[in-house]
Amino acid sequence: MSKVKTSFFCQNCGAQYARWQGQCNSCKEWNTIVEEIIQKSEKQSWKPETTTTTKASKPLKINEIDSAQEIRMDSFDGELNRVLGGGIVPGSLILLGGEPGIGKSTLLLQISLKLPYKTLYVSGEESQKQIKMRAERITPNGDNCYILTETKTQNIFKQIQEIEPDVVIIDSIQTLHTDYIEASPGSISQIRECTAELIKFAKETNVPVILIGHITKDGTIAGPKILEHMVDTVLQFEGDRNHVYRILRSLKNRFGSTAELGIYEMLGSGLREVSNPSEILISHKEEALSGTAIASTLEGMRPLMIEIQALVSTAVYGTPQRSTTGYNAKRLNMILAVLEKRAGFRLGTKDVFLNVTGGISVDDPAIDLAVVAAILSSNEDIPIGEGFCFAGEVGLSGEIRPVNRVDQRIQEAEKLGFTTIFVSKYNKIALKNTFIKIRLVSKIEDVASELFG
Ligand SMILES: [Zn+2]
Repeated sequence: MSKVKTSFFCQNCGAQYARWQGQCNSCKEWNTIVEEIIQKSEKQSWKPETTTTTKASKPLKINEIDSAQEIRMDSFDGELNRVLGGGIVPGSLILLGGEPGIGKSTLLLQISLKLPYKTLYVSGEESQKQIKMRAERITPNGDNCYILTETKTQNIFKQIQEIEPDVVIIDSIQTLHTDYIEASPGSISQIRECTAELIKFAKETNVPVILIGHITKDGTIAGPKILEHMVDTVLQFEGDRNHVYRILRSLKNRFGSTAELGIYEMLGSGLREVSNPSEILISHKEEALSGTAIASTLEGMRPLMIEIQALVSTAVYGTPQRSTTGYNAKRLNMILAVLEKRAGFRLGTKDVFLNVTGGISVDDPAIDLAVVAAILSSNEDIPIGEGFCFAGEVGLSGEIRPVNRVDQRIQEAEKLGFTTIFVSKYNKIALKNTFIKIRLVSKIEDVASELFG
């Protein structure tokens, strides 16, 4: 019996140490380093004791490399395809992170049932019966989908050799363990080794692997940042459990942009792809209410019309409250200061609440102008004209700055039946003959006087 070998790992960033210490040198977190048993076996392969004839790769001249090689597999899910940049790249490792209970398993199970390829769905979390029950709620077919309840990687690879799937899904990486390491499942060294085995498998066979990873309270993929470095693509599934909408975002993508966004609606029968999100993000009401304004924003290449709601009221308590959902709180404070200093609105003693509908958080600075309009509308208690929308960034001196791809924003607004859009005077607009009226503004005072006279 060989001596048990241990090592120390930071549970936050995965850094390895020879002995325990209070603070991690690499991520500077305190008390995150714990001892884990590692006992590496000599031979280490995803193939269980068979010949290991790995093809060593050969250098090629750059002109010999086939540039059209990135063939993608259609995932038969428009939103997932969009976020991945056109589909699943064979041999890639995709990590899908998200809080427990947000719907990661539902999403991947639903996709595996739809795929026309042979798919192996490995679950360490639920029994085959439980998964079958869930699958029946989603769709009655699923002829190509195999379900395996297993947590040991060596057993999983044995099944893979028999079934020869085209896609492998692992639910979740935190439940896996490999024989080559003695630490408990979910520990840094187990997660790292199991992922390494799966990467080796994916690269050697060209079969894509999708991993589910649970996220801790502070929003990082549980345990390891290291996982994010190892895989090709990191997707995050987010949303509020109280809202029906879920957002699929890519945080890292070796094969495409990270700017794209997928939107789903959670239904009793599974997740519905929302292909025209603007329609759901704008609430439809009978009468015009003060305090709401529509922003024409862009998420990746896709334009989105988003409703901003503001409530401005006299502060009941000494210090006025400011609270936002889906919009940067510092940015709100800046906008309020600009409104007070540059346009003379006395908001210093008012409570201001701001909400982006649908539970989405928006980074696009073009939303500023709609925020200003919503705040002023609530403050004046005058509804904004019907069919109005906004796209502009607000600067510190109260100027309305131009936004990128303004033509696309205007077109989307027009497509959805808006009649007037407010944009910066400094934007160069190439569009001709639009039905929608384009109002050019340069300062927030202009906006205020145009809207409320
Ligand atoms: Zn660390």
